[in-house]
Amino acid sequence: MYSDLWIEEKHEVGYGMRYKVENVLYSKKSEFQTVDVVETKGHGRMLLNDGLVMVTERDEFVYHDMITHVPLFVHPNPKNVLVIGGGDGGTAREVLRHPGVEKCTMVEIDGLVCEACMEFIPQTAEVLKGHDKLNLIIGDGVKFVEETTEKFDIIIVDSTDPIGPAAPLFGPEFYGNVKKCLADNGIVVSQGESPFFNGDIQKSMLKVLNDAFEKTFIYNFSNLSYPGGLWSFTFASNGLDPLKDFDESRVEKSGLDFQYYNTGIHKAAFMLPTFEKKNLAGLIQNP
Ligand code: SAM
Repeated sequence: MYSDLWIEEKHEVGYGMRYKVENVLYSKKSEFQTVDVVETKGHGRMLLNDGLVMVTERDEFVYHDMITHVPLFVHPNPKNVLVIGGGDGGTAREVLRHPGVEKCTMVEIDGLVCEACMEFIPQTAEVLKGHDKLNLIIGDGVKFVEETTEKFDIIIVDSTDPIGPAAPLFGPEFYGNVKKCLADNGIVVSQGESPFFNGDIQKSMLKVLNDAFEKTFIYNFSNLSYPGGLWSFTFASNGLDPLKDFDESRVEKSGLDFQYYNTGIHKAAFMLPTFEKKNLAGLIQNP
């Protein structure tokens, strides 16, 4: 009976999260993963890929504010933005709120993720149904950055964990190609995993970024849906510094309204707990 249905996201470290499910809205298997959308009691509609929570209506704003507005307010004039992954649409939605952005290309490998979200999570995916500045490509982001001749001001890697088709998104070849298609003054921001549970992945990601880019940082945010609550994004560039080059006045002048992001959160996100700073010593320039 659905009234007794709970789903559990389990992790090897002996940690899990349980959610009471009221209704299963969508469940299909693609060549890449199982895609489910469920209606939960406490978190609204929820997207799961292979049983792992990707997005919930209740707190998606945290992740999407922080993955987009941090780089978009550091870059002085971002016009051309690339999103890799992000099939729920939340990242593209936030990118396209910046009026100066002329084009947002989004490359998601799994059309089923977009299909499921467009039908059942319009809160994030409405934008995917049509926006004159959005170029939605269903394809492999790894191949896209290898082959494109376009230059992007900002590249956002909104990926799943480093398993299956997302594994190369954490490696050196991918970031070599990202560097090739970043414009001068470009910024790349990527989903950076859990400081508590994924210290090894963070370290290897930062090593790859540090080898490829002049400046590398990591910044944190708290949310309800990813294991442990504390999660991160990496920030890399060949010049721009997320704190020294952050012109706070642009946030107010933009007139945009946010649910999580503000200038204080922007700066505070780069202040790391000691254990994370120690783990990444020599690989990041966070203060
Ligand atoms: N916010 C989420 C999180 O951290 O769990 C990520 C959301 S988004 C749904 C991640 C997307 O990355 C998935 O839909 C997945 O299909 C996509 N993805 C994985 N590997 C990819 C690749 N090589 N190219 C493009 N998209 C990819």
